[in-house]
Amino acid sequence: MKITILTTFPEMFAPLHTSILGRAEKAGLIEIREVDIRPYSKNKHHNTDDAPFGGGAGMVMLAQPIVDAVRDVMGEHFEGKRIYLSPRGKTLTQADAEKYAAEKELILLCGHYEGVDQRAIDLCMDEEVSIGDYVLTGGELPAMVLVDCIARLVPGVLGCGESARNESFSSGLLEYPQYTRPREFEGRCVPEPLLNGNHREIEAWQFQESLYITLKRRPEMAIRYLQGIKLTKSRKKLIDAVYTRLNSEMDIGPEETEQLPGADRVQTDNVQSDPVTDSASDPDGADTER
Ligand code: SAM
Repeated sequence: MKITILTTFPEMFAPLHTSILGRAEKAGLIEIREVDIRPYSKNKHHNTDDAPFGGGAGMVMLAQPIVDAVRDVMGEHFEGKRIYLSPRGKTLTQADAEKYAAEKELILLCGHYEGVDQRAIDLCMDEEVSIGDYVLTGGELPAMVLVDCIARLVPGVLGCGESARNESFSSGLLEYPQYTRPREFEGRCVPEPLLNGNHREIEAWQFQESLYITLKRRPEMAIRYLQGIKLTKSRKKLIDAVYTRLNSEMDIGPEETEQLPGADRVQTDNVQSDPVTDSASDPDGADTER
């Protein structure tokens, strides 16, 4: 995959060429190139910004250098998406990153100051992407965020394909807690199910922890997840145990469980029998309906 970043501050991008992404570049899995917009300016002093029409504070990036730079880097056979990093854009999600990772080529435009002349956006950008509801001084950090989360999904970049698939958001839930050596640290032990080598138990524990943390921190995400899964007997048992845990932590009676997010979905009688998963404990199996 080839990513070209248009910026007036190309020197800001050194971090993208180190660590995992640096190795992936060396291995030829991704190509990340920064292109300075300034040399494209036809302005006498190679300016890239000017005062806004209508007045107001700050400067606006000129359309001409941007449009010329985009057309130049596109060449004749560009196949991909051109994205302007902007607080007005669609907020980036893991699903968007997966969609972009399937593109052959991306061109990213970093704004600065008050932003970019609208005509440059209209003429040569396909989409606008925001990295969150806050405003940064420039599009360079957002571009790095976008490149990082896309590039790590490109096959081979992470080394182990599993690690990207099982993470927060990919499964529809936040990730369960992770532990490594030693088994005990400052009196805190690694949870028992992770130590006994029983894969079904490990997966069941991981599923319950994922659901628990998602219900607590991102209830709207947990509800979406619970609405999308096939509710088998064994899965319902695991989910019920998570609600029981939440009940006791919140010190509410079982009759009040229905107040908890997503509980109405699980308290249904419409439980399907699944001969495979119901024969043993059912972690977050592959039988989601989504
Ligand atoms: N005046 C603009 C507004 O109110 O929407 C903000 C401009 S901001 C100071 C300068 C540049 O930073 C933008 O052109 C954009 O490229 C980038 N930027 C700032 N916050 C961003 C965000 N949350 N997501 C993506 N890009 C952002």
